[in-house]
Amino acid sequence: MHTDKTIAAVSTAYGRGGVALIRISGKEAFAVASSLFTPKKIPFDKITPRRAVFGDICHQGRIIDSGLLTLFPASSSYTGEDTAEVSCHGGMLLTSLVLEAALDGGAVLADKGEFTFRALMNGRLSLSQAEAIPDLIDAQSVDKLRLSADNAGGAMEKRLADLRQRLTAVISSTYAFIDYPDEDLTELSVPDMTAILEELKQQTASLADSYRTGRAVCEGIKCTIAGRPNTGKSSLLNLLCGEEKAIVTDEAGTTRDVLEETVPLGRVLLRIRDTAGIRESDNRIEQAGIARAMDKIADASLVFFVLDASSPLTEEDERLASLLVTQGKEVIAVLNKSDLPGRIDKDRIRALFPRTVETAAKNGRGKEELAACVDELYNTAILDDGGEIVSTARLCAALRQASEDIAQAISALKEGFTQDIAALSLENALASLTDSTLRETADDIIQDIFSRFCIGK
Ligand code: GDP
Repeated sequence: MHTDKTIAAVSTAYGRGGVALIRISGKEAFAVASSLFTPKKIPFDKITPRRAVFGDICHQGRIIDSGLLTLFPASSSYTGEDTAEVSCHGGMLLTSLVLEAALDGGAVLADKGEFTFRALMNGRLSLSQAEAIPDLIDAQSVDKLRLSADNAGGAMEKRLADLRQRLTAVISSTYAFIDYPDEDLTELSVPDMTAILEELKQQTASLADSYRTGRAVCEGIKCTIAGRPNTGKSSLLNLLCGEEKAIVTDEAGTTRDVLEETVPLGRVLLRIRDTAGIRESDNRIEQAGIARAMDKIADASLVFFVLDASSPLTEEDERLASLLVTQGKEVIAVLNKSDLPGRIDKDRIRALFPRTVETAAKNGRGKEELAACVDELYNTAILDDGGEIVSTARLCAALRQASEDIAQAISALKEGFTQDIAALSLENALASLTDSTLRETADDIIQDIFSRFCIGK
């Protein structure tokens, strides 16, 4: 991305619509706009900034539409550069001709997310804010939308700024010690400093912990449905998806492929992988399915372990159960076919898997119970507390690192090291919390973030 060029793109979605918006940003944005837009009542150079004016839109010297133009000077634009926004009717050809007119006027086509990239470069947005924008655009649930709106709107950035400010205050107190070690100049006694740091450590750690919920709501949890054949895995997938996705048959071993589906359950988004029945098999096609199923279990964060509650535990059930226990997976045991007389040893299952839900997938029963279980597992109740919730792995890792660095500083102080030793760890913690300053962020992270954007944002 070259920030010296003036860029243009259609910011509204491609397709027919009442209105479309073409955005132009850069040093020449106003000149480009003047080449394609003529206000009806005033000369172009008398346009009041940030106020829409009505006028004619031209393409190669001919009027092709009338619409609105708004000019945003660099000081008050999204990108931090001069920006012009042209609204025209939302015809597909019409919109592309207006864009073409902007390119004829000297602009170049914007890359994905380039407007936001420029906003980031010009300090109009922090990285956490920029990162939340694609989530806001892509949100499929109200919770995800609210979370990303909080982050894009700067609530998280404010919280980080507060943590940084309190940490900086402690660091400056240690500087007084470093500069004048023999004089009693520090504003904070060691016990006071330790108390403040304990609080900061706890707050950064608990903010990092909130990612467990943030991830479940925003990214979704990789989940797999496992169990021996015929226990009702496909029926469970259908129950969760609300439609006939998997093939349900009476014959054991018929679900041979791993089906993938993104489904909301409770307030959590599950990225569910249904699996072929896990068992030892002579059949080569089935063997391939089973090998893949084992991979999917290894890859999943959450496993729905489906058991047939109407029959006693089999050796295969036991083998799979111990595999899940040894792998340390988060497991919800699903006691399916609970409409039939129960013959499974429920106590044994509950002893192995404390989270157990009874379902009758075939009869459409058990989804609410499963949803409640998943909500509890991912602590979605905190979504209603109004506090900030981390929604990216990057910020979570930065907060964890900060918390560890603060813990090191606390240990140094407790072990009687001088404050300058503690200050080194605190400087590291501050650097981690300063992730929002672009210059310290690696290019590949930036690239990764902007690859998720659409053109025109
Ligand atoms: P999978 O092989 O584990 O995917 O199992 P399926 O979903 O294909 O189901 C196997 C058989 O069990 C089918 O005949 C289903 O109709 C039946 N089944 C599934 N769920 C239930 C249930 O909750 N109750 C009863 N009675 N039968 C079920």
